[in-house]
Amino acid sequence: MKAASGSAPNPDHRPGSDDGPGSDQTPASDDLTTVRVPGDKSISHRALLLAALAEGESRLEGVLPGADCQSTAEALRALGVEIPELPVDGAPFRIRGVGISGLRAPEGPLDCGNSGTTARLLLGVLAGAGVPATLTGDASLLRRPMRRVTAPLDTMGARFREEGLQDRLPIRVLGEGEFRGGRWLLPVASAQVKSALLLAGLLSGRPMAVEEPGRSRDHTERMLRAMGVPVQSRWVGLAEGAEPGQGGGERGTASLEAGPHTLRPLEFSVPGDPSSAAFLVALAALGGAGPGLRIEGVGLNPTRIGFLHVFRRMGVEVEVLPDAEAEEPVGTLVVRPSKLVGTDVGGPEIPSLIDELPLVAAMAARARGVTRIRDAAELRVKESDRIAAMATNLRALGVTAREYPDGMDVEGTDAPLQGSVATWHDHRIAMAFGILGALPGCWVEVETPEMVDVSFPGFWELLARVSASPAPRPPASPAPRPPASPAPRPPVVTLDGPAGSGKSTTARAVAERLGFLHLDSGALYRAVTLALLEGAGSGKGRPEAAWDDVTVAELEAFDISLERDGGGFRVRVGRQYPEARLRTPEVTERVSRVAKIPAVREWLLAAQRRTGLEGGVVADGRDMGTVVFPEAEVKVFLVADLEERARRRLAETLGDEAQREMVEAEARRLASRDREDAERTVAPLRPAPDAVELDTTDLTFEEQVERVVERVREAQGRT
Ligand code: C5P
Repeated sequence: MKAASGSAPNPDHRPGSDDGPGSDQTPASDDLTTVRVPGDKSISHRALLLAALAEGESRLEGVLPGADCQSTAEALRALGVEIPELPVDGAPFRIRGVGISGLRAPEGPLDCGNSGTTARLLLGVLAGAGVPATLTGDASLLRRPMRRVTAPLDTMGARFREEGLQDRLPIRVLGEGEFRGGRWLLPVASAQVKSALLLAGLLSGRPMAVEEPGRSRDHTERMLRAMGVPVQSRWVGLAEGAEPGQGGGERGTASLEAGPHTLRPLEFSVPGDPSSAAFLVALAALGGAGPGLRIEGVGLNPTRIGFLHVFRRMGVEVEVLPDAEAEEPVGTLVVRPSKLVGTDVGGPEIPSLIDELPLVAAMAARARGVTRIRDAAELRVKESDRIAAMATNLRALGVTAREYPDGMDVEGTDAPLQGSVATWHDHRIAMAFGILGALPGCWVEVETPEMVDVSFPGFWELLARVSASPAPRPPASPAPRPPASPAPRPPVVTLDGPAGSGKSTTARAVAERLGFLHLDSGALYRAVTLALLEGAGSGKGRPEAAWDDVTVAELEAFDISLERDGGGFRVRVGRQYPEARLRTPEVTERVSRVAKIPAVREWLLAAQRRTGLEGGVVADGRDMGTVVFPEAEVKVFLVADLEERARRRLAETLGDEAQREMVEAEARRLASRDREDAERTVAPLRPAPDAVELDTTDLTFEEQVERVVERVREAQGRT
């Protein structure tokens, strides 16, 4: 696949242009500003992966250097592929592929960071290749469902072991069993699942057919064909004259015959990301970029530009000028200020614009009438719960927004939009509000604006340059708050309680609802326990019988720290992120003993306190409200009947199948940990005097979360 003519892939990488993002804007004869957007994220992942599996050397250009694509590159390196650092400016580089059967088992877990695409595509690759490996990720990725990929692969003979919660990473691909290939009907169209299955077919040499209702992105199929693998794509039910991806009720099947296959190397320039371009289209249409914008080098794959149909229904004046035909279509978008009206979005058009729905909701705030988004429950399991995030943030700016399980209603308004919003650690939420904040008369402070780097490095700089607003917000450093409404520091919330009372899951969900960070303090005690165990196991560390006398110098040498990551913090030990190993029975059995050691508690205190300096943290543990954050604005102490706690604990791993004896045994283990935690002399487990007790025995999980969220909202109302 050659680059389409004239498509430079990245704003920074242009011949004769070397002065940074946005420098590419050139005045045109019609006064429109010309801009480019960074390389497409979906295509960048696939280009890296398939180049790694090719026979020979590929040349890639315009690969998005964002964190998600870095995760794919890093995982491939761990699987034995030599991949250079991804150039920050999209410059060309080469990858020598190892061939379909050249991947080797990695030494440690593969960390997919925040990237669902990395995790799901690799599950397919590893299952098909029969390469054993454990996949894990950051706190936010550990919440995203994976069985949609592993269930079909399992049916076809691949074997997996879920090492954390059901349906979630960490998951080990066992690399055993015979993968037979097969046919799978997807309940909802999904490019990630379809691609994972096709890749499993490719690597195993077994036949594969994936049928989906509606049309998901087809980059994998296009790229495989360009590399010499005959993937068939068939469509039924496409109305005459209709464009695919418009929601005409079509069904698609992508299939691959039995192999063995080989991949020819790729010479490829990644097109500009249409989902990134969408933000600039919205900016120009809403009158935020003077007379308008010309956006060049944008990928125009029909499965990706469903948003243009919806934008046009909303009144956006946009012209599409395709470049010469290539495997991935590319072209220019020309946009002018337009009068927007509300619309209804739903049904089969959803998959083709799923990533742009947050933006549609933001535009709806500036469109006459009501915009209704439905059939988009998938939005709740993206990088954040995008329905809750958009609705909450829009309301914070004074817009009327109502949430539904599968969508939302947004009422347009002419009033100036002003205020402060949380990004929920989601790049698209950050950018959607960046656009609203750049409109004349509007002012929006976006917290954690750096999140945009995931898909659109240079977004704020470009926005500041093209924005028509007299004083565009400086990149990455929020404008000073208007003195009339000083925004209060968000509260610190503590959730303490006995083992198995649901603190961690509740705290994580509460943090996600509020756009706060989640601190799981137990993970720190577990990390110390793991480090001690490994030291004792290797014979170099302290024997288990002498752990009580561990010194601060020894603890320092473990090099344990907390790192910001997605919606919370993750524990780093040396150069590793041992999430997957913190919950093994060996660690759980010993952790309460380690947590009693005064040196350990004291040493961990500073790291925990640092996380709360700026507020906006939900911390769970045993002494969060009493010792670590005695000043916390909201303190909750969770309790629940011992047997109920044991049942919940077991349900995390066994579903509802736990036997009575198992429940009793688990209850004994929990009670013994509680006793140790409550009877220790330093920071014993007990409610802070100002904590509210919440008995969750008879509450559903949603109710628990809601109760805590209510408390926080009350506290916020008081400030
Ligand atoms: O919450 P989790 O089960 O992960 O915590 C593991 C252990 O760490 C607890 O049983 C307790 O002994 C200890 N811990 C603690 N103080 C905290 C958090 C955990 O003593 N703040």
